[in-house]
Amino acid sequence: MDDVLTGLLRPKGIAIIGASTTPGKIGHTVVKNLIESEYQDGIYPVNPSADEILGLKVYKSVLDIPDRVDAAVITVPAKFVMGVTKECGEKGIKGLIVITSGFSEVGDVKLEKDIVKLANNYGMRVLGPNVVGTLSNSDSLNASFAPFLPLNGNASLVSQSGALLIAIDAITYTRRIGFDKLVSIGNTSDVNFADMVDWLDEDENTKCISLYIEGLRDGRRFIDESAKAKKPIVVLKAGVSEHGAVAAASHTGSLAGSQKVYGAAFQQAGAIQATDLSDLFDCTLALSLEPPMKGDNLLVITNGGGVGVLATDSAEKEGISLKFAPGSVQEELKKHMPSFGSAKNPVDLTGMAGNDWYHDTTKFSFAHDWVDGLVVLYCETAITNPLEIAQSIHTAVKETGITDKPITVSFVGGERSDKAMQWLVENGIPAYNAPDLAVRAMGTLREYARLQSMKAEPIKEIHDIDREKAHEIISKARADNRTGLTEIESKEIFKAYGLPVVKTTLAKSEDEAVSLAEEIGYPVVLKIVSPDILHKSDAGGVKVNMQNESDVREAYQNILKNAKNYKADASIHGIVVQDMAPWGTETIIGSVNDPTFGATAMFGLGGIFVEVLKDVTFRVAPISEKEASVMLDEIKGAPILDGVRGEAPSDKKALAVVLSSYAYMISDLVDEVAESDANPVLVYEQGKGVKIVDARIILKK
Ligand code: ADP
Ligand code: MG
Repeated sequence: MDDVLTGLLRPKGIAIIGASTTPGKIGHTVVKNLIESEYQDGIYPVNPSADEILGLKVYKSVLDIPDRVDAAVITVPAKFVMGVTKECGEKGIKGLIVITSGFSEVGDVKLEKDIVKLANNYGMRVLGPNVVGTLSNSDSLNASFAPFLPLNGNASLVSQSGALLIAIDAITYTRRIGFDKLVSIGNTSDVNFADMVDWLDEDENTKCISLYIEGLRDGRRFIDESAKAKKPIVVLKAGVSEHGAVAAASHTGSLAGSQKVYGAAFQQAGAIQATDLSDLFDCTLALSLEPPMKGDNLLVITNGGGVGVLATDSAEKEGISLKFAPGSVQEELKKHMPSFGSAKNPVDLTGMAGNDWYHDTTKFSFAHDWVDGLVVLYCETAITNPLEIAQSIHTAVKETGITDKPITVSFVGGERSDKAMQWLVENGIPAYNAPDLAVRAMGTLREYARLQSMKAEPIKEIHDIDREKAHEIISKARADNRTGLTEIESKEIFKAYGLPVVKTTLAKSEDEAVSLAEEIGYPVVLKIVSPDILHKSDAGGVKVNMQNESDVREAYQNILKNAKNYKADASIHGIVVQDMAPWGTETIIGSVNDPTFGATAMFGLGGIFVEVLKDVTFRVAPISEKEASVMLDEIKGAPILDGVRGEAPSDKKALAVVLSSYAYMISDLVDEVAESDANPVLVYEQGKGVKIVDARIILKK
C-alpha cells in the first residue's frame, strides 16, 4: 500500500492552510467539519493573522506546528498555493488536499503542473486542485466542506465532480446506501483514478469501489490498475454522448466515439458501468454486500404474479433468463404453497405466503446446488408484516451458512416495506423497491463474475514478427513525406505480423502484370496502387475475377485510365495483381488511436452498410483471444456469423485469432500508426479460415 497516499487519505495530523475565523468561509467550514466529525489525530489551523479558531490554537505557518502532520488542506487563493506547497514539503507533509480552484479548469495548466512538480519533488502527492476534500467514516475524518460524513457503509466513492459528491453525501441518508469514504478528485493533476483504484483495493474498510468519472487522463493505466483490483468497481461515466468522431480517412475513424471506447475500456478494466446515478447506487449496494453470481441459474420467489412477471422480463434483459428449476426442486417447493401456487420459476407462493413459507422456501432454494442466485420478491399484503417477512428471509439465509452465493430482495409497498428493506440492508442483504431493480442487481453480480473470468485470459501475443520489415516500410513512406500507406505496403506490414493477407504483388507494366498473374494462377484481382486514391473502387481502380491474359491486359489499361480520370495528378506506384479470394462473409477489422486509451481495435460486419449501421464494437488493444470472440458475439449482426437461413457457420475461431493478432499489431505499432483497417476480411466456413483482401494503414503525422 502506498504510504504517501495513506498519509493523504488517512492522515495522522491534518493542517488547514487558510483556516478562517469567519463562519461560512471554506477555511472555517473545514475546521468545523473536522471537529464535528470527531477527528482525533490533531487538527492544526494555519493562518498568519489569527490566534484561535473554534477553540483551536492557530499557527502562523505549518512549519510552526510541533507535531506530526500528514496532510494539509489548502484553501488559500491560487496565487499563494505555490509558496504554501514549499512550506508543506519542508514540514514533511505527505499529501496536499487542494480545495482552491482557478487552475487547469479555467485554463491555467502551467501553475497546476508547477505545483505538482514541486510537491512531488518533496515526495508529496496532490489531491485536486479544485476539490471538496476527503471524508472517511472509519477515520472519523471530514476534511472537506461537505456538511457531514456519509451514512456509514463499506463502499468508497471517488468523484470528479465536487457538487455531485456533496449531493451524494446527502443522498446516502435518504437512499440508505452507505459509504466508508468519499473522495473528491477534482482536476486529477496528480492523484488520478488509477491511483485511487490501486489504493482503495488495499483499503481494509472498502469492499466496493465506486467511481464518478468525467474524463480519464491515463486510460491505459486505469485499465491495468482496475484489472488488477480484487474488489468490484462500479463506474458512472458522464458525457457519453458521441464526440471526437472527426471525419477520418478510414472507416474506423468515423465509427469510433468516446462512448464506445470508454464502454470497452471499462469492460476490459473489469468494471461495471452504471447507466445513471440511481444505478450507481443500486450496483454499489449489490456489489458491496453480495458475492458474484457464478452461474446462470436464477430463481425468483414471489407472493404476487405481477412482480414475478416484471422480474421475468428484467431477467431476460440482464441476460439471466429464468429457467424452470429441476423437478425435485419443484416438488420440495410445492410443500410450502397452496395448490394454486406455482413451483416453476418464478416460484409463486401466492398472497397467502407468510413468514414460514418465506423462510422455508428461501432456505431450501438458497441452499440448493442448482440455484446460482436467488431473488426474493414481496408485495405488501394485509395479512403479513413486512419486517417479519424480512427477518424470515434473513434468518433463512443465515441458517444455510452460505456466503459465496448472492441474494437480492425487493419489497413493494409503503412505509412498512421501506422500513423492512432498510432493516435488510443494515443486516447485509441488498433490497430494492422494485422487482426489476432486484433482478438488475443480480444481473450486475452475474456481469461481475463474467468480467472476473475474462481477466484471467492471457493477452494474445505474436512472437515471430518481422519488425524490421514493418519499420522499413514505414520509414520509406516517411521519407516520401506520406502518411497514407498503399494497399501493398499495408499488407506487407500485416504479413510481417503473421496476418493472413492474400498474395499481393506489384506490377509496373502490363507485361509484368501478365507474368505475375500467371505465377499466382487465375483468377486474379487487379487494383490501382496510389497513395492519392484511398477508396480504390470509387475510382474504378479494382477489377476482380480476371480469368486470363487478355482480361489482365484490358483491366490494366482500364484501371490506369480510370485513375487518371478520377484524379489527374495522382501519383501511381503501379498496379497490384493478387490472388482472388473465394467469396466469404465480409467483415471489417479496424483501429484508431484514442486520445485517452491509445490503440483501439474495432470489429464489425463489412460491406457498404458498415458506416450507416454502425454495428461495430471496440476494445483497447491488445486483447485476449477470448475477448476477441466476445467481440464477434457482441455486434447485432452476430447471428450472421453463426449461419442464418441454412448458411454454414463461419470460422469464428480463426477470426478471433486474426482479430486478437491484429490488436497486438496495432498496440505494437502505436507510436507509428494512427489508423488502420482490413476491409474486407473474408470469413469462410468453420475450419476454412479467413482472408484479408484489402488493407490500409495511416501513419501518425
Ligand atoms: P477499396 O476498399 O479500396 O475500394 P478493395 O480492395 O476493398 O478496394 O476492393 C473492393 C472489393 O473488391 C472488396 O470489398 C472485395 O469485395 C473485392 N475484392 C478485392 N480484392 C479481392 C480479392 N483479392 N479477392 C476477392 N475479392 C476481392
Ligand atoms: Mg476495401
